[in-house]
Amino acid sequence: MADTITIPEQQVQVIAECDVLVVGGGAAGMSAAIAAARQGADGILAERYGYLGGLASGGLIALLLTLDDGEGRQVIAGQCQELVERLEARGACFYPPKGEWGAADDALVERYRRWGLVWGSAPHVVRYSVAYDPEEYKYIANTWVGEAGVRLLYHRWASDAAVEMDRPHGGAPWRISHVVFTSKAGRQAVRASYVIDATGDGDIFLLAGESYARELVHPWLWFRMAGVNDAGAAQAGREGFFFRTVHGGQALMPWGAAERISRKIDATDPDDLTFAEVECRRMVMDEVDRLRAQVPGFEDAYLTDVALTLGITESRRLEGAYTLTREDMGRAFDDAIATTGHWTKYGAVYHIPYRSLLPRRVSNLLVAGRCISVDHRAHHATKEIPPAFATGEAAGIAAVQALRAAKPVQEVDVTALREALRRAGAIVPGAPAS
Ligand SMILES: Cc1cc2nc3c(=O)[nH]c(=O)nc-3n(C[C@H](O)[C@H](O)[C@H](O)COP(=O)(O)OP(=O)(O)OC[C@H]3O[C@@H](n4cnc5c(N)ncnc54)[C@H](O)[C@@H]3O)c2cc1C
Repeated sequence: MADTITIPEQQVQVIAECDVLVVGGGAAGMSAAIAAARQGADGILAERYGYLGGLASGGLIALLLTLDDGEGRQVIAGQCQELVERLEARGACFYPPKGEWGAADDALVERYRRWGLVWGSAPHVVRYSVAYDPEEYKYIANTWVGEAGVRLLYHRWASDAAVEMDRPHGGAPWRISHVVFTSKAGRQAVRASYVIDATGDGDIFLLAGESYARELVHPWLWFRMAGVNDAGAAQAGREGFFFRTVHGGQALMPWGAAERISRKIDATDPDDLTFAEVECRRMVMDEVDRLRAQVPGFEDAYLTDVALTLGITESRRLEGAYTLTREDMGRAFDDAIATTGHWTKYGAVYHIPYRSLLPRRVSNLLVAGRCISVDHRAHHATKEIPPAFATGEAAGIAAVQALRAAKPVQEVDVTALREALRRAGAIVPGAPAS
């Protein structure tokens, strides 16, 4: 049996209070915080690191896959589309023009495949997918949340939640009164009327006692090299698997090393993460050496950055009010808040119900991003950056609607939510076009 110690009770300073507290500043969390602030809420966005984006920036996963249905129709807009426009205004992204989405032309498909914008099995068509610069993303994100009036708390790691009885006879009898953060300043609490868990790993729903599914995964570590002499020629060969970036002479190595790490890990176990950090970094450097030695064009290339965070596709998934499954592909829902395409499949879409963001026990908590309530197969589609934006946006607006109505999140009027999303520029399945 493991040794234990008892920590004395501790007074924790409450450093802030707000209407909506979003924990986790990845794609979902940023989108949620901006959406809530735009609805007039006093919002806080708390993030353990010193930048926004999570996997979409620090993880170097700088590809929006996808905003379309694989048949030429855009299915995600809203704040994800706004991100594309903000990136474009800084010359920081690359994507096929609208007239080419859905085109089956081989040369076009090959052109975009080299940017990482076409995946899956043939026959291929051009997708509405976007390659971008992750440093520009971080800069845009800071500016964007500032403009929206979101209070940003960097370097705060959510480590505890104070949960109290809410409505003893209600369907969701618990509420989170405070989230406790650990930082260089010690432990500090934030009081919030509503909380959005956008930690990717479901840290908040875990702390609040919600049930969840856990997945073991192969971790990855994306990296970039510069000084590539002739990217076109190198891509034509078979020895190198990499993507072009918005910078000439730079290559993005998706997934990291060509080889897969020897075993799956539990990405919520620090010992497994330690193993993965050491092993993946070693494999990255082996791959750098191999590329330099074997791939024409890479002779003078050098490593510029390794992802700041391991590429973790999946860890905890909420078991919420509804679990979206593979069998739900294409199924319509009255409470759908977004639609997502599938990055490796053409014409495959999931409509995401509001209930997939809803916990069962806690009345003031919503979940967004890669840890929403879906099964492993549906997760392949819903975990991507565009749907993370979309579920974040929906969670942010829903939290404000619950706040205004002084109701549990389980009782939000979904017709009003869908209408508010549509007014905000989101594409809502089954709703009239704006
Ligand atoms: C290897 C790999 C390849 C992928 N390829 C693509 C691709 O090409 N295109 C695509 O669109 N998607 C891709 N994805 C999926 C996509 O990158 C992620 O699923 C998506 O970015 C998740 O966004 P998120 O906001 O839900 O979570 P995350 O990006 O994980 O963000 C969570 C944030 O919460 C913070 N956080 C976590 N815990 C705490 C805590 N306790 N307290 C405070 N902060 C906390 C983290 O630091 C992070 O900033 C890929 C994923 C992987 C792993």
